[in-house]
Amino acid sequence: MLSLPKLLLLLIVAGAAWYGWRVWQRKLNVAAAPAPRQAPPPASATVAQDLVKCPKCGTYVAAGSAHQCTGA
Ligand SMILES: [Zn+2]
Repeated sequence: MLSLPKLLLLLIVAGAAWYGWRVWQRKLNVAAAPAPRQAPPPASATVAQDLVKCPKCGTYVAAGSAHQCTGA
């Protein structure tokens, strides 16, 4: 039967080991795959992009996109 102080000590040790393991895993992940400074925007982000109306065909296209105009 574990006494309360021993149980607390066990919890503290387990928590410290778990915390240390997480920090260690994070260091491994950072070393293995460094996060890019500029992550490419997800596909859903194109909805929030500024839309400009093509003066030729009137189609709303994302600003800066290579719009192949066919309505000239
Ligand atoms: Zn166009």
